Order: sequence, then structure tokens, then C-alpha cells
Amino acid sequence: MKKYMGITTVIIVGLLAGVFYWGEYDLKLVPNEPDLRPRIEEGSPSEMSEKFDLSGGSERDNRGFPQRTIVDLVSLHPTLFFREGSQKAKKVALTFDDGPDSVYTPQMMDILKEYNVKATFFLIGNRAHLFPEVVKRMVNEGHVVANHSMTHANIAKLSKDKVYQEIKQAEDALYKIIGYRTALFRSPYGSLNSEQVKQIGSYNYKVIAWNVDSLDWKSLSAEQVKYNILENAKEGSVILQHSSGSLEEDLTGSVAALPEVIKILKKDGYEFVTIPELLKIPYKK
Ligand SMILES: [Zn+2]
Repeated sequence: MKKYMGITTVIIVGLLAGVFYWGEYDLKLVPNEPDLRPRIEEGSPSEMSEKFDLSGGSERDNRGFPQRTIVDLVSLHPTLFFREGSQKAKKVALTFDDGPDSVYTPQMMDILKEYNVKATFFLIGNRAHLFPEVVKRMVNEGHVVANHSMTHANIAKLSKDKVYQEIKQAEDALYKIIGYRTALFRSPYGSLNSEQVKQIGSYNYKVIAWNVDSLDWKSLSAEQVKYNILENAKEGSVILQHSSGSLEEDLTGSVAALPEVIKILKKDGYEFVTIPELLKIPYKK
């Protein structure tokens, strides 16, 4: 009898382990994540994988540009480098980096449209080639299109010539779609040195950083993104979110946080403006 009980126990334990194992395995197969691979409007699938890549790598591997450095660059180049607007008015600017794509950028624009908010999108030239219709929609809906380099290169690691190419090629790519030449630049990963600020300034650009980082590129939940923004937003804030990323970045939380962020800041009396409005600088040449 004891022998049978032993065998029965082993079988039951084995079955339970199997159920848990396969249960977990099943969970992994449930497609509860959005399809992060955008559908292209133009070009071939190989062009897609080549051009959708962030040439400097994912934000995760490259970020590490402290606010301290940003503050230093602002004080060294007060007419070229900006991280916030005047603290005298209850105005803030939403900014979205790394678009366009066909997954998150349209969702962000749907929400902005619903709440009648205009924002500033820092776009990657290569991606603009892939999703021209998304860029056109941006302009049609009153958003400002700005330059975020051609390939999302790590600018601080580039030669002077390469920096020029990154900016100029993106400017040309965007010009073909939007019909104006961008005058606002944000450096990928925030990475930039003082000499490069002067160099980029010589091409009639203002460099735009931020003082509120949603950290949404870490694939945070809506609650976390909302907290990061609302805890830090104040008069004149430039808020950083992403409207696309590398393929492993899940921006679902950032999208879900946006309506709440807008509602709460509006209720607190804040007005949402674009970067050129907040900083009183031109966005085109
Ligand atoms: Zn970026």
C-alpha cells in the first residue's frame, strides 16, 4: 500500500509540475505585447530592417547623459542650447523623439488630436523615408517637425564631417516631405559636447534638450511614466517622451499615460505649446 502511495505521489507531483511548466510556457505564447515591427509605407523589407535601426544602438545601451551636463551646456550657450522655457508662464511643451513609425506615433497623434494639444516631434531621417504619410499627418495636425539626425547616431562619437552629414541628410529627407527646412535639433541619447553645440549652431539650428524625462524608453508602465512626468513638470518644462524606439522598446505605457498627463496638467492650469512657442525661437529656416 505504502509503495502505491509513493508512486501516486510521484505521479501527482509530476503532473502538477507539468501543468505549471506548460502553463508558464503557454503564457509566454500569449500575444499580449503589441507587434513592435512597423509596417512600411515605402521600400522593401530589407530597407525596413536597415533603416529602422538606431545606428548608435538602443537608448537602453547608450543613455547616461546627466542633467548636470545639460545645465552646463545651457549656461555655456544660452542662445543656442535650451532645456526649458520661462518659469513665469504656466506653459509646458510635450516632445516626442525617435519617430515616425506606424505603431506608436499614430497613437500619440490620435490622443493629441482628441485633447487638441500641439507637440514637437524630433524625427529620424531614415524613418521619415519609411513613413512619409505619418510625417505629413503630423504637419497637417499642427505639430512641429524637428531634426533628430539621419540614423540616430551617437553624435558625441562622430567627426565634424559626420555630424554635418547626420544633420544635413535628415534635414533634406524631412524637407522633401514637409516642405520646410528644420531649425530645431535634438541630439540622439542627448549626447553632445560644447564644440558640437557651436558647430550645429553654425547651421542655423537651436539645440533642444529637456528638463523632464519620462524615461519611457525603459518600457515603463503608464503609472510610472505618469509619475515621472507629473512629479517634475513645472512652468516652462520641456517634457521628453518617445513616439517610437528600437524594436525591443515597448512604449505602450507611454501612450496610455498621455491622456492622464494632459488632463491633469490642464486641470492645474497649464497650457500645452510647441517648442518654438515655448522658447520663442524659429522652427524653420
Ligand atoms: Zn532618440
